[in-house]
Amino acid sequence: MKIELETIPVWDGLRSGSECFICDLMNTGEEDALNYYLGPAIMVPEIRVEINRKGFCPHHFRALAARNKAQSLSLVLDTYMTQSQQELYPILDRIASSGSARKAAKGFAQLEDFASKREKGCLVCDYMSARLVRYVRTVAALYRDDSQFRTELAKGKGFCMHHTLELAKCASEELSGSLLEDYLRLLAGLLKTNLQRCQDDDVYLSQKYKSENRDKPWNGCEDAHKRCVRKLFGEGRVLSR
Ligand SMILES: [Zn+2]
Ligand SMILES: [Zn+2]
Repeated sequence: MKIELETIPVWDGLRSGSECFICDLMNTGEEDALNYYLGPAIMVPEIRVEINRKGFCPHHFRALAARNKAQSLSLVLDTYMTQSQQELYPILDRIASSGSARKAAKGFAQLEDFASKREKGCLVCDYMSARLVRYVRTVAALYRDDSQFRTELAKGKGFCMHHTLELAKCASEELSGSLLEDYLRLLAGLLKTNLQRCQDDDVYLSQKYKSENRDKPWNGCEDAHKRCVRKLFGEGRVLSR
């Protein structure tokens, strides 16, 4: 499948010195998607139909609510909830009028199915997922086509564990043969080296709090605990696919 490569943001990301520039790009992608679904797009009938049908995952519904765009989100919720009613209300009515605990429990099982179906799938996650594919494939394509990129990638801080896996999953779309092998080896090597660096910084940070180290410099390790968490778990993850 041919995709539109994102050469400029990926180059900028690599040179930013971040623990994982895919995390940074995905955080921006998430912001863009949330703004999109609270903006003029919601007045487009086809988009509203999609929102009513698919909606958002719990994490992104909460993120939309946290933006305090009451006028937009109240409109979206009105039609989303109206759509939900068609299936939800008959289930609730059946439970309310059930003649036995067994029948009521069966109704609650249906309610559970309904809730998990409604919570699955998310337009913000879909939007992020499409971006993620473009970013990870651009990294692989630049690795294939640009020796300068290969050199700088190998010297850089690598990626978080989560995005290392995403990069590896999509690698064969752009690379093959020995170049693919080298790339996969590089991803693993970068993860190991940079996890170790973060851990070393974290050890330094933990020791810095001892009274005998009070006057030692921070050596840039003030945020080592946060960088470790990020390296291990990433940010801007696509939650619902
Ligand atoms: Zn990441
Ligand atoms: Zn989502």
